Amino acid sequence: MRLSRYFLPVLKENPAEAQIASHRLMLRAGMIKQASAGIYSWLPLGFKVLRKLENIVHEEQVRAGHIPMLMPTLQSADLWRESGRYDDYGEEMLRITDRHGRDMLYGPTNEELITDIFRSHVGSYKDLPLTLYHIQWKFRDEIRPRFGVMRGREFFMKDGYNFDLTKEDALHAYNRHLVSYLRTYERMGLQAIPMRADGGPIGGDYTHEFLVLAETGESEVFYDSEITDLRFGEREIDYNNVAQCQEILEEFTSRYARTDETHDEALFNEIPQERQRSARGIEVGQIFYFGTKYSEPMGATVQGKDGKPVPVHMGSHGIGVSRLVGAIIEASHDDKGIIWPEGVTPFHVGIVNLKQGDSEADAACEALYRSVEALGLEPLYDDRDERAGGKFASMDLIGLPWRITVGPRGLKNGVVELTCRRTGTSEELPPEQAVEKIA
Ligand code: ATP
Ligand code: MG
Ligand code: MG
Ligand code: MG
Repeated sequence: MRLSRYFLPVLKENPAEAQIASHRLMLRAGMIKQASAGIYSWLPLGFKVLRKLENIVHEEQVRAGHIPMLMPTLQSADLWRESGRYDDYGEEMLRITDRHGRDMLYGPTNEELITDIFRSHVGSYKDLPLTLYHIQWKFRDEIRPRFGVMRGREFFMKDGYNFDLTKEDALHAYNRHLVSYLRTYERMGLQAIPMRADGGPIGGDYTHEFLVLAETGESEVFYDSEITDLRFGEREIDYNNVAQCQEILEEFTSRYARTDETHDEALFNEIPQERQRSARGIEVGQIFYFGTKYSEPMGATVQGKDGKPVPVHMGSHGIGVSRLVGAIIEASHDDKGIIWPEGVTPFHVGIVNLKQGDSEADAACEALYRSVEALGLEPLYDDRDERAGGKFASMDLIGLPWRITVGPRGLKNGVVELTCRRTGTSEELPPEQAVEKIA
């Protein structure tokens, strides 16, 4: 992409309404624009990152054997009356009446809709196990939308639902989700720690939230510092292997890690004092096993092995895709701007031309552009006729992992400058070698 032909409305001033770094940087980097309280347009740069996260989530869900689909944002109130949640859900649900006077709502989550799909089409235990998921916009009329996309009213969420014959099978689905989430967050360059949590209005005894530690997080968390040394890494995983998934769950959840709702001071004090940590965290996902909570009232049964109908065991599993954009920035920025992890960066390298219009500099930039593209990577070429200082500031702000600076003086010696955004270190190299380093 050439910056002269892109739409990147960078702001020079800090927007007054932004209280935290991610919100401020997303506005300044031209990633989002507020449409109304808690509702945002995703401008091209923000949209690119959102799509990258969405793709990672899809890839990891499909790898775990889960099946993608798409449910609508608007739902009929009838299904929610069946489950009993229409009245329980309260003010967070945006309720709408259509022209025929029918009660509708903008879905805050999809347990009812998916259970209805399931009961309409699945009748036998032979069709299980089944896990369906979608990535779709949700609406929750949050009392205090704030921090930009971190607590929006409209937000993009992956929600998946498992249907199993027995509790044991459903717990394997739970473990599978936990493992797939560990992989997902690591690919985004994040450490998200599974912590014992509270069921809330979705209900359930087994539930973990995934938290990214950050001072600006809205959750209070307590944990054993050893947990921050754990990495999923490159290990091989077979999602059908019940024992392997269970082992990984135990590895990642046996140490103390809880949100304030389930915090137990006495248990916490059993950890050696030098390892006790209390901090703040951003909730970027949550998994639940809730048994027959929805299948029973909604009649989602299958014929069991003995021919008798049994309600299926279910769980639901969410990832806050749009919130993650903010969470990644909270975890990875400095005073100049964003620092994107390689796996989610909107472009891989910025090319800065110090003397636009100089035929040698222009030609060198064009050649670099082509060789970056030839590697299957995306360059963002700042080909505007602007001062170097301004170009550098924009590149630092939008946080691409690499910058290649091209100017007539360097070219005389056959070199360009390669700068790493994270470390700030630069080196002079022939253009081909600079491209090799990025690949
Ligand atoms: P929170 O405690 O932050 O209100 P939640 O527990 O109500 O979140 P879940 O029902 O667990 O949310 O939804 C799954 C995921 O969706 C959350 O882990 C979070 O990452 C994301 N999410 C929830 N509410 C919002 C929101 N208002 N804006 C952006 N993302 C959200
Ligand atoms: Mg909530
Ligand atoms: Mg929560
Ligand atoms: Mg939650």
